[in-house]
Amino acid sequence: MYTCMIGKENILPAVIFCRISSRDQELGVSIESQLASTYEYCKRKNLTVIKEYAITESSVRGDRKQFKEMIATVKARKGKVAIVVNCVDRLQRSYKDSPELDTLRRKGKIEVHFIKENLILHKDSSGMDIMFWNMSVLMASSYVLQLADNVKRSMRYNLSQGKWQHLAPLGYINKQDKEGKSCIETDEARAKIIKKLFKEFATGLFTITDMTDKAKEYGLTQKKGTPVIRSTIHKILTNPFYYGFMAVEHGNKLIPHRYEKLVSQQLFDKCQSILRSRGKKGIKKKTPFNPKEFAFRGLLTCGTCGCTITCEHHKKKSGKEFIYLKCHHTCPTRPCNEPAVNEKVLFQQLDEDIFQKITPERVEAVNAEIGKIIKSLDSDYKNILAGLEKEKEKLESNKSKLLDLILDDVISKDEYEFKLSKINTELAIIQSKISEKPSDLTDKLKKLQHINRVLIHSNEILLGSKVCTKNAYLNILCLNQQLSNGKLLKKVDFPLNLLTEKPTLSILAAPLGFEPGFSP
Ligand SMILES: [Zn+2]
Repeated sequence: MYTCMIGKENILPAVIFCRISSRDQELGVSIESQLASTYEYCKRKNLTVIKEYAITESSVRGDRKQFKEMIATVKARKGKVAIVVNCVDRLQRSYKDSPELDTLRRKGKIEVHFIKENLILHKDSSGMDIMFWNMSVLMASSYVLQLADNVKRSMRYNLSQGKWQHLAPLGYINKQDKEGKSCIETDEARAKIIKKLFKEFATGLFTITDMTDKAKEYGLTQKKGTPVIRSTIHKILTNPFYYGFMAVEHGNKLIPHRYEKLVSQQLFDKCQSILRSRGKKGIKKKTPFNPKEFAFRGLLTCGTCGCTITCEHHKKKSGKEFIYLKCHHTCPTRPCNEPAVNEKVLFQQLDEDIFQKITPERVEAVNAEIGKIIKSLDSDYKNILAGLEKEKEKLESNKSKLLDLILDDVISKDEYEFKLSKINTELAIIQSKISEKPSDLTDKLKKLQHINRVLIHSNEILLGSKVCTKNAYLNILCLNQQLSNGKLLKKVDFPLNLLTEKPTLSILAAPLGFEPGFSP
């Protein structure tokens, strides 16, 4: 039982981690309320706060400097440290931080306390708790995805209105209009110089280096006031923004904008043909596909020979891209005949064989069954508690009877003290039983209900998320299976089997650690 691990004599040092992103700030989420509840929690749990982190940081963008600093602090300290956070999404919104946290957890270096989720991760955490953690990260990351979707949607709208939403190019300035909305205006002084540069470059007499010198001479500076460099000038002379167009989708698409044009299209085109004739490159090409990221990476083995199935990315002559999975059998004398299979086929199979079976009705039916078990556990606990209270009452009454006996001189002082200490010991035992947590089984079952509700959305999660999230999700679902003749072989594991097969108590029992013979 977990409560035994933090005895009264060893008080655990704790690091408090509170985080808001700049967007949370807008939404009115405060760091103060997080601090208040984490401190209150530490006091209640007898944790000694050694450091607090109250930070503003995005959990998905950038390299999370302050999160890393917190981890370094924890690592540098001798012995185990508790990390206390309000809820999972305050600590992480993606799986990228999970491996490091999990390694430290398994080593017994950290304990992570998630207050809202009522979850404490430690060295001996159950598989259920780990799954619950992963699911919560997933929920937090899909919130990020949703947020990103909303941002993308509003960006698309703004683009259709000819609005540029990034830093304005040199010659323009980002401002706020009377209503406080961001807008872009012409930066007259710089605009004048830029017009001049285009005209002079179009004569074909000057190189980019010459133009850089000229720009400096005319007094053109970067927005921060620093001198312009060669690459800045190249950027200016190739940016279609100056003749009225915004380059989007890695420069593959041009959309007209609503701001002042500094040059004509003819002048711009002339500059481009001069650049091309000198072999200068135009706008950068699309970023290539990252070959390391595959949804099924490391999850499947070959049903014929047992080797790992590898994922490969291919591009057809038509430009169509696809991923196929293949047995990685390297022995040349006994080649494996396992056919390659398209990733899409496997997703389709997962959907048909597993995910389509997980309907909201099915989940609610299973959760109702789990609810019954929780209820019976609760009433069992209430009965036990009532019994304990009764015993306590009896002992208290014995205590007062004993007092009467010594006051009436019926028993000696030695006898009195001997019996009193016996009663007090019994009382202490009962008191500790009364204050014990009812059972973490109830807690596990409630978490299972929550996980089941997430599972309804499995297919959407897989369709809508990044490849690394897909990989992590398939891993959580224990869909690391065997592939044979283009089909997944193994039956599904807990907790998916609860929702796809007829749930029996035996399915439920093993992973939850029920006692044999337990009956709801
Ligand atoms: Zn094989």
